Amino acid sequence: MDTAAITDEFAASQALREGHFELRSGLHSNQFFQCALVLQHPARTTRLCQALIAKAGTVQPDVVIAPALGGVTVGYEIGRQYGARAIFAEKQEGRLVLRRGFTITPGERVVIAEDVITRGGRVQEVVDIVTAHGGQIEAILVLVNRSGGQARFDHPLYSLLEITPQTWEPAECPLCRQGLPLEHPGS
Ligand SMILES: [Zn+2]
Repeated sequence: MDTAAITDEFAASQALREGHFELRSGLHSNQFFQCALVLQHPARTTRLCQALIAKAGTVQPDVVIAPALGGVTVGYEIGRQYGARAIFAEKQEGRLVLRRGFTITPGERVVIAEDVITRGGRVQEVVDIVTAHGGQIEAILVLVNRSGGQARFDHPLYSLLEITPQTWEPAECPLCRQGLPLEHPGS
């Protein structure tokens, strides 16, 4: 799957749109991105995860772990395709932990999966959990990397799509100056 085909999967499901948007932060942007909109289509999710796994090469995990909530769908599908267990870490008192009896055995080969990273903080929390359990991290697989190369880990990182949207304070927004109508997606 080439970059155009990948972008098409996101665009066709309205997960990725170009235009003039007011983000929840109040900033204006030329791009709207909501990963859940592509993940609502299981067939698209299957194709995207397949392409992501292909990028990672010979990785063969025993277990795939994702941070809840955003990573769960991707982690489950990636686990399914690898024939591995698929577990998730979830927030408890502000930090990610393993609950529900999920475990990682020392020496197990682990892939970390996430839908989108911006600063990579949640993935780093999962890295710390896996390391604390003695798991061997083989790769970090993310559908979309929005960090602009800023998110770095001590393990190989593979992403399907790298996007760096431009954002502006409303008063400095060139799209406002052009008189483009402003959209409020997701509201
Ligand atoms: Zn604007």
